[in-house]
Amino acid sequence: MTTVTRFAPSPTGRLHVGNIRTALHNYLLAKRDGGRFLLRIDDTDPERSREDYVEAIRDDLGWLGLVPDGEVRQSARFDLYEREFERLKGAGRVYACYETPEELELRRKVLLGRGLPPVYERKPTDAPLPEGVAPHWRFRLDHSVLIEWTDLVRGPQHFDPKLISDPVVRRADGSWLYLLPSVIDDIDMGISHVLRGEDHVSNSATQLQMFAALGATPPALAHEALLVTAEGKLSKRLGASGVDALKEAGIEPMALNSLLARLGTSRPVEAKATLAELAEGFDLSTFGRAPAHFDLAEVEAVNRKLLHHLDYASVADRVPAGIGEGEWAILAGNVDHLAELADWLPVLDGEIDPPALSVEDRAFLALAAETAGMVEWDEEPWPQLTMSLKAATERSGKALFMPLRLALTGRAHGPEMAPLLKRIGRARAIARLKAAA
Ligand code: GLU
Repeated sequence: MTTVTRFAPSPTGRLHVGNIRTALHNYLLAKRDGGRFLLRIDDTDPERSREDYVEAIRDDLGWLGLVPDGEVRQSARFDLYEREFERLKGAGRVYACYETPEELELRRKVLLGRGLPPVYERKPTDAPLPEGVAPHWRFRLDHSVLIEWTDLVRGPQHFDPKLISDPVVRRADGSWLYLLPSVIDDIDMGISHVLRGEDHVSNSATQLQMFAALGATPPALAHEALLVTAEGKLSKRLGASGVDALKEAGIEPMALNSLLARLGTSRPVEAKATLAELAEGFDLSTFGRAPAHFDLAEVEAVNRKLLHHLDYASVADRVPAGIGEGEWAILAGNVDHLAELADWLPVLDGEIDPPALSVEDRAFLALAAETAGMVEWDEEPWPQLTMSLKAATERSGKALFMPLRLALTGRAHGPEMAPLLKRIGRARAIARLKAAA
């Protein structure tokens, strides 16, 4: 059977890291099996759904590289829901209800007061119907069988349907609640795996009966533990920790993907350059039951590692102007974020402030300037320069290298000097050594 997964956000806000993680896992599961990853926009609620959020969801998924193999919108599928609803009504699996919220609440309190589970009590089928009141609709759970499934993350699950209220599937104004359209779509879209947060476990229990009532084999179910963000820290720095904020913080999409692919699993977080590498060996059985903690510092760490081994082609569209393949090769190991590359441009091609140095160091740099005039610049200038100076001065280690680095780059830390010096070039290097001397 082909693996077909779906990510089903409601366009009532921007995606946050929790949603992104669910989207990513659905993508990876599908791609691991050579299957399809679909986007379903759950926009049955016209009041709360917004077109700009739909756009933003597509853009955010695009930035992450989680490009869906197809997209459906629930708002365009009401005819299908209507047909299936009629079918269930005909079979007696949905029924009209007339209670007001106040009546239901009162009943709930009475049951709780008697120490009973506050489960919705069905009216006898021959009970008189109130006149002129539009009903809302509930799905009739089958009490004769236990609800069971083997969750791909949580293991065996059991629910007694007698302890669950028949869920409301349609409001009195005809609008749909999430539960039934989702099942109708999962069947229609041929979804093989429903992978979502554990806040949906009890929905799954009732939805499994809806699959059965509609005559469909249910998809495999997987409910992952929720993602916990270090809210205080995160919300201040990253707003709702959505894509925009992470983008602005200079986080690479693959750094976020790399972290979210493994967070809360028994496998180590590794900085991977492509989604295909993350999909390889993606395994729901490695997912833990405890909430996964999302920490900005960890994304930063993965970002750093990732930049150190990404090739130029994968960052070319995002690097600051002036950073070509050669510059990338020299600087990549030395930046935490792509934007920092720009800080190095003056070192490569522009002006730097000469450092303030001791008399001894300045004398040493005067000699270095002279020596630099004699090295073979077409070969490897750095080893030639440092070896000559070492022989001539008996300086070594930090005493040898640090004044040179300071004079040539204006900084105490930075990329490896050998490729850097070559890139700075003869004329500029000699001028800088002289200026510092
Ligand atoms: N729109 C639902 C939500 O965002 C979808 C849940 C599901 O994946 O079925 O919670």
